Amino acid sequence: MSFFEYRDGQLFAEQTSLSSIAAEHGTPCYVYSRAAFETQWKALDSAFGDHPHTICYAVKANSNIAVLNLLARLGSGFDIVSEGELRRVLKAGGDPSKVVFSGVAKSKSELAFAMQNKVRSINIESVAELERVQEVAASLNVTASIAFRVNPNVDPETHPYISTGMDKAKFGVTMEAAFDAYKRATELTNIEVHGIACHIGSQITKTSPFTDALKIVLDMVKRLADEGIKIKQLDLGGGLGIDYHGETPPSPSDYVQSMINGMKDHGINLPIAIEPGRYIAGNSGVMLTQIEFLKHNKNKNFAIVDAGMNDLLRPALYQAFHVIKPVEQRSRQAAKIFDVVGPVCESACVLGYDRELAVEAGDLLAVMSAGAYGFVMANNYNSRNKPAEIMVDSTQAHLVRKRETFDQLISGEVLLAAD
Ligand SMILES: *Cc1c(COP(=O)(O)O)cnc(C)c1O
Repeated sequence: MSFFEYRDGQLFAEQTSLSSIAAEHGTPCYVYSRAAFETQWKALDSAFGDHPHTICYAVKANSNIAVLNLLARLGSGFDIVSEGELRRVLKAGGDPSKVVFSGVAKSKSELAFAMQNKVRSINIESVAELERVQEVAASLNVTASIAFRVNPNVDPETHPYISTGMDKAKFGVTMEAAFDAYKRATELTNIEVHGIACHIGSQITKTSPFTDALKIVLDMVKRLADEGIKIKQLDLGGGLGIDYHGETPPSPSDYVQSMINGMKDHGINLPIAIEPGRYIAGNSGVMLTQIEFLKHNKNKNFAIVDAGMNDLLRPALYQAFHVIKPVEQRSRQAAKIFDVVGPVCESACVLGYDRELAVEAGDLLAVMSAGAYGFVMANNYNSRNKPAEIMVDSTQAHLVRKRETFDQLISGEVLLAAD
């Protein structure tokens, strides 16, 4: 089911037309569907049935505090990768006892902030980090609850820039090192072993990479148990893919059942945490943009739009494909093949190559599946203001982040004193 559909030739978000949102809030902007976020979250939650679990939404996918607040209201936990993300979760009313903290380079002050707020688990990515966690916990006189993020060395069969669980990746502790790392953790006075975590990559469209990783993690759980080290939670990361353009990822129930069954096969029964980002946010938002000009060079038609790679980086960064739809459908007879390009002065500032579109200058386009890793990667390159974000709830369009102003854009900048 999509919450972004045509009605009488007009593209809607839920019960609100995208053209009315563009008229009120301008372009470029991101438009989210509340129902879409909630439906995706609930689909994963209910797939667990009565198996003990926590859905730790990966904040980095879309960190608008209105989004976090809606998920917190459903009882979501959160996966964070920085102090800033934890501050957002707290601001949005999220429960820190359902927060897991990932990331390869957590600073001492970030760790201290997380411990003071009693997050559920610090997911440690190296032995050096373990020693740092001990030092910070001791200085605060607290016990830090930890997991190691292990690296099971499986190929998630996705884009190399979003593969994280192979030996060549900077993420996680190798399986060879993990056992000794856990043993070391049990020697430390201010560390309590809580769980084991892994996250092998993103936009994964099969269950086999997940179950392959699970087997390796469960072997480690057994080895640790034999050594008297008890794991209380299995954190299986995020990575469940979505349909951007015809992909067929596993359903939530296939994905979750494959994990529960994998545990049963190993004779293990533990609470599971997962860290979905893209699955919840990806198809819950679009980016709206307006065509400034149509341009015809020798062999090419360009639709030059008012959103660029600074607003939506994924195509330039990952060669990601986003379907691009006209907000108002015109007769297909007028269709031509266009490269949809943005204003930024880089040849990589392209939102989509070779798209068949029936459009004219001034038309609005919706860049689909832009709810995850969209606004969060927006930046100010070319001194472009960050776009607005709008959350649609049925017939209501709520502005959940105002368009950045020029004054905000330069607010940290100062001149040298006059000579
Ligand atoms: C990015 C990330 C996620 C979320 O990945 P998705 O593919 O968006 O589900 C989860 N956990 C960790 C540690 C991450 O870095």
